[in-house]
Amino acid sequence: MIGYAELLDLGVEGPLTHGQRARVERIKASARHLVDLIEEILSFSRMESGREDVRLERVDLAALARHVAGVAEPDAATVGLRFRIGVPDARVAARTDPAKVRRILLNLLSNAVKFTPHGEVGLRLHVEDGCAVFRVDDTGVGIAAEHLERIFEPFYQVERALTRTVGGTGLGLTIARRLARMLGGDIAVESEPGVGSTFTVRIPRIHPTRRTGRRAGVRSGA
Ligand code: ADP
Repeated sequence: MIGYAELLDLGVEGPLTHGQRARVERIKASARHLVDLIEEILSFSRMESGREDVRLERVDLAALARHVAGVAEPDAATVGLRFRIGVPDARVAARTDPAKVRRILLNLLSNAVKFTPHGEVGLRLHVEDGCAVFRVDDTGVGIAAEHLERIFEPFYQVERALTRTVGGTGLGLTIARRLARMLGGDIAVESEPGVGSTFTVRIPRIHPTRRTGRRAGVRSGA
């Protein structure tokens, strides 16, 4: 779908009117959204069947955080939100699975943008007790205390059914927390309804297998 929509966009069948181009953009955005949903469901089933591997690499988590901020910032700007970034200039060297850290942060940032009607979202990073600590915060709708732990359950969504204005599978946080735990870390949340939310991701700079020996499903790269 995306490929054929792109061919239309490139004008291979002749020039598009302004209205046609807008419709083609919609088709592309919806197709990408479907790809994300499918990827999320597949990722969840891979984890359920224990087939998600950890691939360890040496990585600079400060550079990774800046890269992720660069990806999320335009999405925030599109809906009129400010984006704050607080990442150290110095390297934050780690041996972990960078693709998983990236997925966790992108997931939390996309939620932050999705549930923040106005104000700002942010990403911060600091080092504490051998862990990289990322904080994703927003000035959004917030989450009431009774939902705070339940949002990590599969398919749990605070605002459901007909009143729901934003999309999603309800799997994002389940996956993000499982990924963080595969890296020896975890995710915690603090929130106040109407004020905003802060998700804290703690990831050990040295993946625990380096200390305790190799475990099934953990591969060591560079
Ligand atoms: P999805 O975003 O696909 O619904 P998630 O597992 O990512 O699923 O999140 C579960 C629920 O937690 C969301 O539906 C929403 O109700 C709540 N939530 C997650 N992040 C935020 C946030 N930053 N602000 C307010 N509510 C949030």
